[in-house]
Amino acid sequence: MRVSQSRPTITGQDIRAVTDVLRSGMIAQGAQVKAFEEDFARYFKMCGAVATSSGMAAMHLALMALKVDKGDEVIIPAYACAALMQVARYCKAQIILADIQLDNFNMCPQDVARRVTKKTKAIIVPHMFGCPADMRALKALGVPIVEDCAHAVGATTQGAYVGTLADISIFSFYATKMLATGEGGMVMARNKSLLALARDRRDYDHKRTDVLRFNYKMTDMEAALGRNQLRHLQEFIDKRAILARTYTRELSEEGLGLPILEGAEGRVFYRYVVQAPQAGALIRAMARVGVDCTRPVFKPARLYLSSKDYPITDQAFKQAVSLPIYPCLRVRDVQMICRHIKNLRHSI
Ligand SMILES: *Cc1c(COP(=O)(O)O)cnc(C)c1O
Repeated sequence: MRVSQSRPTITGQDIRAVTDVLRSGMIAQGAQVKAFEEDFARYFKMCGAVATSSGMAAMHLALMALKVDKGDEVIIPAYACAALMQVARYCKAQIILADIQLDNFNMCPQDVARRVTKKTKAIIVPHMFGCPADMRALKALGVPIVEDCAHAVGATTQGAYVGTLADISIFSFYATKMLATGEGGMVMARNKSLLALARDRRDYDHKRTDVLRFNYKMTDMEAALGRNQLRHLQEFIDKRAILARTYTRELSEEGLGLPILEGAEGRVFYRYVVQAPQAGALIRAMARVGVDCTRPVFKPARLYLSSKDYPITDQAFKQAVSLPIYPCLRVRDVQMICRHIKNLRHSI
């Protein structure tokens, strides 16, 4: 049996929700999208949310709402997926990379601080692999923040959900994420006018034409799936936590860097990322026994931009290995994966 890196949890109920939409004949953005936005905002006790075609679309709308434009600087982590870099490019902003912390892969507030200038218009802050970033320190820098919750829907820090802590936040419902709709995303903000700006640019029709507009709409099929997935979010989080505990227990003696839990009690396990001295060898050896382990950031922004001066990002990229974790994985699958890792220790 092969174990994949990730897998969405799709129930009969999910399938019914989508086929009901298909049968209704109203399949584009409509009542289901509106209801998903309402359900989502209610979950986080926020005044509203804007559903989008992807996380990247949500992030573009968020940067436009913050009026990021040519000549502005946007700070993103050097260790993050390419989407962040691309979206800053959509706005013609200058991309400034910041280094991360090795303990949780999140942006290092001190490193961000030394890169803030008068031109800094926004900081994009992902909560890496489900672990909340140090929002208190980052907010203290006084620059607008886009919380990137693509990894961390349902995580909490300082007694609040991530996505409710900064100026504006985005989520992704791509197939591998905590909540999956295939493709999809969401923008959320406390400030109603920011949210209205994001909503306005999502559609191109029946609107003023003096600003650049996009078709970033979600379909009702995706929204119906998203509403159902959201009802199961807490179960998903709990199941992932059980699997993470199993990994931590089984791998405590294997010479790997394991996720640190102190100070991160509200984290979720979107990914279970270990740091291995020989990450490439571990990934290849696990592939041979049918377990799909990956580098959790395929190619960090730092490599695309070939900038120097990011030692922690380089170390993270060299060492990080993501082990399979998702709600439909069983504890005994995790135990089997750990047995393979233990056996390999002597051969790699
Ligand atoms: C997946 C992801 C995105 C982009 O979301 P898409 O829905 O794939 O466009 C952005 N940021 C992070 C941290 C992600 O993991």
